[in-house]
Amino acid sequence: MIKFALLCARGHEFQSWFQSSEAFDTQVKSGFVLCPLCQATEVTKAIMAPAIASRGEAERAKPQSQAQSQTKVALLDRADLKSRAMINAFRKRLFEQADDVGTRFAEEARKIHEGLVPGRPIHGQASIGDARALIEEGVPVLPVPPSPDEYD
Ligand SMILES: [Zn+2]
Repeated sequence: MIKFALLCARGHEFQSWFQSSEAFDTQVKSGFVLCPLCQATEVTKAIMAPAIASRGEAERAKPQSQAQSQTKVALLDRADLKSRAMINAFRKRLFEQADDVGTRFAEEARKIHEGLVPGRPIHGQASIGDARALIEEGVPVLPVPPSPDEYD
């Protein structure tokens, strides 16, 4: 599988997976490649190095959902650069000092909050629903902001 960055005649950019470069050419000529935004079939490769996917990646990337690879981003001015460094330092401290309790996070956080076990810093994974419930219960949790330097 090979991923191409594509451009439709109206300038919409999108990405799609193909068996090969030849398969891409054939499908475009046959009008099988549609722009997800305007359904145009005049599609060309955008200038971008193609990525060859491992099998697993190709499986995950199949749906052409627009939302799948979106993340919230902001352009920073000079003053905000300080916050960026702070987020990095904050994450580093959290992950170095707190126990990783993995998916038992919600359960552990509640136990600590209710004083059933001795307090200690923890981090882990929680569903958005669990995190929201904890916040509503007054448990001081924070969805950890993603690292400014990498997406993990
Ligand atoms: Zn389009």
